[in-house]
Amino acid sequence: MSHEYAKEVETLGKVILTGDRPTGRLHVGHYVGSLRGRVELQNSGEFDKVFIMIADAQALTDNFDDPSKVRANITEVALDYLACGLDPAKTTIFIQSQIPQLTELTFYYMNLVTLSRLERNPTVKAEIKQKNFEKSLPMGFLTYPVSQASDITAFLADTVPVGEDQLPMIEQTREIVRSFNNLYGETLVEPKAVLPSNAASLRLPGTDGKAKMSKSLGNCIYLADQPDEIRTKIMGMYTDPNHLKVSDPGNTTDNPVFLYLDAFCKDEHFERYLPEYANLAELKAHYERGGLGDVKVKKFLNNVLQETLEPIRTRREEFAKDIPYIMELLQKGSEKAEEVAAETLRRVRHAMQIDYFGK
Ligand code: ATP
Ligand code: MG
Repeated sequence: MSHEYAKEVETLGKVILTGDRPTGRLHVGHYVGSLRGRVELQNSGEFDKVFIMIADAQALTDNFDDPSKVRANITEVALDYLACGLDPAKTTIFIQSQIPQLTELTFYYMNLVTLSRLERNPTVKAEIKQKNFEKSLPMGFLTYPVSQASDITAFLADTVPVGEDQLPMIEQTREIVRSFNNLYGETLVEPKAVLPSNAASLRLPGTDGKAKMSKSLGNCIYLADQPDEIRTKIMGMYTDPNHLKVSDPGNTTDNPVFLYLDAFCKDEHFERYLPEYANLAELKAHYERGGLGDVKVKKFLNNVLQETLEPIRTRREEFAKDIPYIMELLQKGSEKAEEVAAETLRRVRHAMQIDYFGK
């Protein structure tokens, strides 16, 4: 794996905070958009602390009517983390709802954000549409970017590795930090987003060709999928709708099969599975001029993904044999995270002059 992330962080600080919503198992979009980079950052030795949060309280903002789904996915997400190489010896993995300080911080930050500012968030706007919240919008959902600012700042994180859809949240966090520090004195740290350097990984599309692979849209290849499920999903993938005959020239730029290859394939995969091409550029050129069928490209993508996902799935199955161990590490992680958040809250209350009894 390249060290693109490690290079970029030289100028940044020393605390990472990021996380995922327990709304489903994690998928290959999470892998290229965030997980792969997190593991690299964790192992870079550049960071004093790495916090990874399972955002159950945020997941409830649009799943408040289905708490058992959120609960069931806590261990699923934790298993995906461990399977990808997040290491509890180096990284504190915790559950958002178990840190009450995050809710308190959100309440104070609400004063620093206007309704119209929240309504302008392009990611939230798209999600409101997608979830049919246009007529009846839960306040908790509209304000989740404020709670995300609490999650990041409670750990004084300066580095937030995320996919592109999270940029508006980081911008909102930075604005809150600036307002807070201006009003109450230098207390909080302004974070930076770290995005994957590979363009296709910024926002991996769904297998159905929709703009984003997303747990809530059911267009995912999951890290836990069995080999036959992966194969069936790939063979059924949306491609270029105008590429009807093999001889037709094809489009590779908004064709998810090629975008997945952009995100996953390396030259060595061609040596192993498709030696008649030296690299992806040659394969794309052939597809674009015509004469290359979708099935051949999909079979190649299947080989690449099977090879990438096999070790992750195997590790996941091993960890899944001991769920009590997973719960124990989440409990310990949550206790450790609470200590850090409590220290930040002491500083925040002092800055806001509400530390009447010395805390
Ligand atoms: P939900 O549909 O419940 O919002 P999700 O699939 O969008 O789920 P999140 O838990 O919201 O997943 O996102 C976790 C992290 O994964 C974020 O950093 C996000 O940017 C990244 N991410 C999610 N989907 C993709 C994707 N398709 N491509 C790249 N990064 C992604
Ligand atoms: Mg999301």
